[in-house]
Amino acid sequence: MENLDWKNIGFGYRKTDFNVRCYYKDGAWGELEVNDSEYLNLHMAATCLHYGQEAFEGLKAFTGKDGKVRIFRMEDNARRMQSSCDGILMPQLPVEKFTEAVKLAVKKNLNVVPPYGSGASLYIRPVLFGTGPEIGVKPASEYMFIVFVMPVGPYFPEGFKPTDLVIMRKYDRAAPQGTGKYKVGGNYAASLVAGKKAKAGHYSAVLYLDSREKKYIDECGPANFFAIKDNTYITPQSDSILPSITNMSLMQLAEDLGLKVDRRRVPVEELETFEEVGACGTAAVISPIKRIHDDDLDKEYLYGTEPGPWSTKLYEKLRAIQCGDEPDVHGWVTLVE
Ligand SMILES: *Cc1c(COP(=O)(O)O)cnc(C)c1O
Repeated sequence: MENLDWKNIGFGYRKTDFNVRCYYKDGAWGELEVNDSEYLNLHMAATCLHYGQEAFEGLKAFTGKDGKVRIFRMEDNARRMQSSCDGILMPQLPVEKFTEAVKLAVKKNLNVVPPYGSGASLYIRPVLFGTGPEIGVKPASEYMFIVFVMPVGPYFPEGFKPTDLVIMRKYDRAAPQGTGKYKVGGNYAASLVAGKKAKAGHYSAVLYLDSREKKYIDECGPANFFAIKDNTYITPQSDSILPSITNMSLMQLAEDLGLKVDRRRVPVEELETFEEVGACGTAAVISPIKRIHDDDLDKEYLYGTEPGPWSTKLYEKLRAIQCGDEPDVHGWVTLVE
């Protein structure tokens, strides 16, 4: 095991020894290959560079008290990547190929999987993109799938801390019938300007409203939105939201803890009535929100400066399952043997 300063390594690219690759050619995916280079030899007319044929995933592996490495819900990431492929006309990768590649990438880099109790984890980044040359707008005939991994530090090195969000109606992340529900790079390129503006104002992310009417809550930058009130876990239903696996897990755990779960359109005025508000995703699990500033109406919604009781319970429960401290009753965890 490498000796890194696990608590302070942060979230950034870090070179590891191996990545796993698979090529699509002549209408079929090939065998998995292990590679030790960080670089690709790519055709300059590859469709990923010109027309955004690119989808990615993000998931994590954790070391348990028993020393075993656990990967969280990777079949769900495999299926979501298939849906992203359908959305931008790339060939689906079989679920089995995805999960084999993820397991192999973890196994080949066990030296950098952070130890139990460090708060750090192994971040796994699968990416699939068009490599075939085209200059007319059409899908490529060749593709590449890569899984690379890197250790990342705890999202909250100083403890689970609430942050602020901002609403700015002049920016959209995704169009109503667009690609918001797919995990594709184009959505991220479209969100960089608003994201930079939010960071400059010391907000952790933009709280996007639905881009058709600007009436309902959509997403918090690269995370899903949820709120708690009247013993209910509330999260937006929308066609332009990326279906977060963390959010799906929290909905299940909320139900297990005795909360009602309500997935529906959430009008922006309802922000006034919530007891707790949070953003959720693989990176942080839950990022509690203490303040939402509506930049257009110059209005503030304030929540506690400390994480709320339900957010804390949900966060601890999910983390405990991920590290194997609590039994995996929903079958979410894969042990790397
Ligand atoms: C990846 C992502 C999320 C979070 O999904 P998880 O599966 O929970 O990590 C939320 N919103 C967007 C836009 C994303 O790309």
